[in-house]
Amino acid sequence: MSAFDAVELIRTKRDDGILSDAAIRWLFEAYVAGEVAEEQMSAMLMAICWRGLSPQELNTWTATMLDSGERLDLSSLRRPTVDKHSTGGVGDKVSLILAPLVAACGAAVPQLSGRGLGHTGGTLDKLEAIPGWRATLSNAEILAQLDSVGAVICAAGAELAPADRRTYALRDVTGTVESIPLITASIMSKKLAEGTSALVLDVKVGTGAFMTNRAEARTLARTMVDVGEAAGVRTVALLTAMDTPLGRAIGNGLEVTESVEVLRGGGPADLRAVTLALAREMVSLVGLDVDPEAVLDSGAALHSYEQMIAAQGGDPSVAMAEAPQRHLVRADASGVVSRLEARALGVAAWRLGAGRARREDPISATAGIVVLAPEGTEVAAGEPILELHVDDPTKLDRALAALKGAIEVGDTAPDSAPEVLERIAAGPR
Ligand code: URA
Repeated sequence: MSAFDAVELIRTKRDDGILSDAAIRWLFEAYVAGEVAEEQMSAMLMAICWRGLSPQELNTWTATMLDSGERLDLSSLRRPTVDKHSTGGVGDKVSLILAPLVAACGAAVPQLSGRGLGHTGGTLDKLEAIPGWRATLSNAEILAQLDSVGAVICAAGAELAPADRRTYALRDVTGTVESIPLITASIMSKKLAEGTSALVLDVKVGTGAFMTNRAEARTLARTMVDVGEAAGVRTVALLTAMDTPLGRAIGNGLEVTESVEVLRGGGPADLRAVTLALAREMVSLVGLDVDPEAVLDSGAALHSYEQMIAAQGGDPSVAMAEAPQRHLVRADASGVVSRLEARALGVAAWRLGAGRARREDPISATAGIVVLAPEGTEVAAGEPILELHVDDPTKLDRALAALKGAIEVGDTAPDSAPEVLERIAAGPR
């Protein structure tokens, strides 16, 4: 006789009851052992979608998923450890700049990442545009690189929070992805498994983000901060704007090139601002008294980037390959670019080949979009606004279809909203 019964636990949650710590632990153990069926776990996930989880239930749910796999032990490192997680946005290449920047500030950044699905790209996909760069590292290699370079961006191994992998696959096909407690447990179990001592969350808000509504994004941020702190990881979240793409480049190789521009002291102002805001939070969480802007401008972050890429087999001096064809999207009237809608541009870049619909799909290193005239730019009729980089011309029409209605040229510039909308830290609400 087992201590619990899956149907009883599903009924409890269905009727808005509370699951005990022991019940949650039993549920996962029995699920992994094949004693709780996939359909029972699916029903539980749907019940949680409707009823939510209390803070205690959520902490236990997250800890149980974390304990389903291994946790990296970073205690031998001589630097303080801190990571960043972004909920994903269009043109979001911040990690490529931020990890080496914070390493150059004196911390160790263990960034275990995933690949992209849908209209937002994955950090690994971007770095894989660099010839020779290797995403898969052993734990010993991760530790050695954190010690020598201070930054690692690599694939999260199958041993990290495997219960998340299984439950995410169920959520994907049962309409249960959109649940703040389930998203929180999924993200935080994987981040806590990295063994980092501090974490900064970049919760994107806007049409190009997972969360389009600011109040929901705030709730997600607050929930993740609370779970991180309860697990002993100092955690802060920034809500950042994602109604228009971040920076000018969307697409894997194009985003690597733009990241290097920022590391060289140039690049788009919005990308630099978001990166520096996150870097300041990261160094402050681990008590380093350094100014990331001065470190970026000194060239030390670029040096760390070159070391980080070379340590994983890439040649940082090689220019990115370019797509064989360009297609310009032009202004249909004279005026100011008043809207350049992030999601549509993300979908268009994805359709050009920069992203994938299924995990097993191939991805292009060269396809994508460069924004020539971002929001607020004055243009004359016929002037180019976007430059589409095309390596498979059969994909162009569908990409252009995604851009219908995404670009507006009007009389006035859009209100200039700040890149960082809100900061959410532990403590009273
Ligand atoms: N990203 C994750 O890793 N998990 C979720 O549930 C949603 C986004």
